[in-house]
Amino acid sequence: MSIAFNRDYPFQYATVETLTPWLRRVVARNPSPFTFHGTGTFIVGRGKVAIIDPGPAIDEHVAVLLDAVRGETVTHLLVTHTHRDHSPACAAVKQATGAPTYGYGPHGAGKLERGVQVEEGGDMEFRPDVPVRHGDVIEGDGLSFECVYTPGHTSNHICFQYRERRALFPGDHVMGWNTTIISPPDGDMGDYMASLELLLARDDLEYWPTHGARIADPIPHVREYIAHRHGREHQVHACLQAGVHTICAMVPMMYCDLPERMHPAAARSVLATLIHMVEKGDVGHDGELRADADFFLNG
Ligand SMILES: [Zn+2]
Repeated sequence: MSIAFNRDYPFQYATVETLTPWLRRVVARNPSPFTFHGTGTFIVGRGKVAIIDPGPAIDEHVAVLLDAVRGETVTHLLVTHTHRDHSPACAAVKQATGAPTYGYGPHGAGKLERGVQVEEGGDMEFRPDVPVRHGDVIEGDGLSFECVYTPGHTSNHICFQYRERRALFPGDHVMGWNTTIISPPDGDMGDYMASLELLLARDDLEYWPTHGARIADPIPHVREYIAHRHGREHQVHACLQAGVHTICAMVPMMYCDLPERMHPAAARSVLATLIHMVEKGDVGHDGELRADADFFLNG
C-alpha cells in the first residue's frame, strides 16, 4: 500500500523559479495539509505564455506572477479545477493580462450534468471563458495543449498536456508528495479510478503537479496510486467483515498513522470508497447513503 512519495521540494515564496527553459513556477503562500507548501502556478513558454492554475486570490501571489510575465504576452489561463487554491486568482490575472480562461466548466459542472446536487465547497465564482472537453487541443503561438478530462478529485477536473514536450500538468489528480482527497458528492471514487486508468494508456513523459515536485517516471507512480486505492477498499472490506460498520469507527483503524486533525478529511475518502463499493454492488447500507450510515457486506 505504500507509495514512494517525494517530499523534496526546494522552493521560495514570492519568487519566480525557472524549472526548465520552457517552464517557470511561482509558489503561493498557502501551505496546508492539502496544498503541501502551497499552490504551484506554472508559466509555460517564453514571450507568448500560458499560465496553468493561477492559484488562490492572494495579493502577493498575483503580484509576483504578473511581475514574472512583465514584457511578455499571456495568451491562455488554464484551470485544472475549481478548488479555492487553484482558480480564484484568475479574475485578477485576467484583468491585468486580458487572457481568456480555459476549463471544463464551473464548480460541480461534471456532476450537475448528471443531475447530481453538488454542495461541496469550491470557487463558485469561476466560469471559464472557453469550456473545454476531453481531446480538445488548445492552440497557442508556439505552444499547444491537449485536454485530458479526469473527473474524480472534482467532477470538473481536467489535465493539460503541453504537447511540444509531452509534459502533463495533472493538477491535483496525481501528486508526488501525497494522495489526493476524494470528497463526495463532487469527488467520486469510481470516476477517480477510471481517470487513473486513463493515464496508464498515455505516453506522457513527465508530470508537473500543482502541489509538490515533478514526477519523472509517471506510469509506475500511477500504478502505485491505483494499488493504494485498492488497498483502501480491502481495508474497508476487512472492517465490515470484522463487524465495524460505521465510517467513524473505520477511520482510526485505517488511518492509525495519520494525525487526528486529518481524520475528518480521511472520513470523506472512506465515504467515497464506500459509495464506490455500493455502486459495484459489494456493499449495502441502512437508510440514506451518507457519512453516518451503517454499512454491511452484500452476499
Ligand atoms: Zn483540489
